[in-house]
Amino acid sequence: MKQSIRSVYNFNAGPSALPLPVLEKAQQELVDFRGTGMSIMELSHRSKAYDDVHNEAIARLKRLFSIPDNYEVLFLQGGASLQFSMIPMSFLNPGQKAGYVMTGAWAEKAFDEAKLFGEPYQVASTKENNHSTIPGVNDLQYNEDDAYVHLTSNNTIYGTQWKEFPDTGDVPLIADMSSDIMSKPIDVSKFGLIYAGAQKNLGPSGVTVVIIRKDLLERSNQEIPTMLNYNTHAKSNSLYHTPPTFGIYMLGEVLRWIDELGGLEAVAKQNEEKAKLIYDVIDGSGGFYRGHAEPESRSLMNITFKLADESLEKKFLDQAKEAGFVGLNGHRSVGGCRASTYNSVPVEACLALSEFMTRFQKNNS
Ligand code: PMP
Repeated sequence: MKQSIRSVYNFNAGPSALPLPVLEKAQQELVDFRGTGMSIMELSHRSKAYDDVHNEAIARLKRLFSIPDNYEVLFLQGGASLQFSMIPMSFLNPGQKAGYVMTGAWAEKAFDEAKLFGEPYQVASTKENNHSTIPGVNDLQYNEDDAYVHLTSNNTIYGTQWKEFPDTGDVPLIADMSSDIMSKPIDVSKFGLIYAGAQKNLGPSGVTVVIIRKDLLERSNQEIPTMLNYNTHAKSNSLYHTPPTFGIYMLGEVLRWIDELGGLEAVAKQNEEKAKLIYDVIDGSGGFYRGHAEPESRSLMNITFKLADESLEKKFLDQAKEAGFVGLNGHRSVGGCRASTYNSVPVEACLALSEFMTRFQKNNS
């Protein structure tokens, strides 16, 4: 990949790195979009030129993620955070229960929103071990009449990730995939609804991807504001109102880039390789670096670690910054270090970080 010519190694947690070829193409097309004489940002969202971009992005997303025909792909706004509210508003009625798997701060936010509408409860929690694990797929205590079960597929702050998903039978499984959507192939048919802000794996901020099974659309509560009703957007192909056109264009181009890499199998292989470069340094450091997540629950997207000698942490982060590494500070709520290695982060950046970490240990032990 050509990304090595960039001046920094971007490990931001989101918004985060975008593929250089995508940025370059966007730059090239910015002023005159494909012969229209206008920027994509200046086109009507009802124009043929924009419609092609919009529909191609949806079609490519469906194909790359192997989304079955009984699902709709929606491009919404409001981030994953608005989904925390739209989900219970649509599917959870007063007095009704929904199970939430509590694996971190984002799950807690989703849970708190659900309390405004019905009776969410915890089907499992990893709070006791400071969210360093993922519950076993058979350890979820939900009820057959729950409105849904909600989980967070990748915990951005703690650096844990589900490796396989539970089978919840007739109870719809809903997943916040904000930080690992399309980082590997998954069986979409296990889920009633998947949602993700685009700004980590798929594009810039401002677009929220929702993948919803059609029977859930039919079942959803209709006595809610128009803009918060999934049906409004499903019926109008996400063009009920003005969509974030530039963000959707960028998302489409990131998907094209994924396609050209060889699709999600290729992306997954690369993501494994990237994460291994860094986890190997942590594991081989004799305790100098300490990973937060237990090895079997480790995320391939957010690698969280501390230095055993806490007094060295600032020096580590300062020197890393000087060496061109961006975004290595842990989330402000937990501290430590975090390297986010989303789809668009090149292998070279991870290799450079692993070498830097090895060198830093050598110079400071
Ligand atoms: N869920 C997860 C797992 C996240 O990582 C984030 C953002 N970091 C959010 C939800 C919130 O997303 P947004 O900022 O798009 O509302």
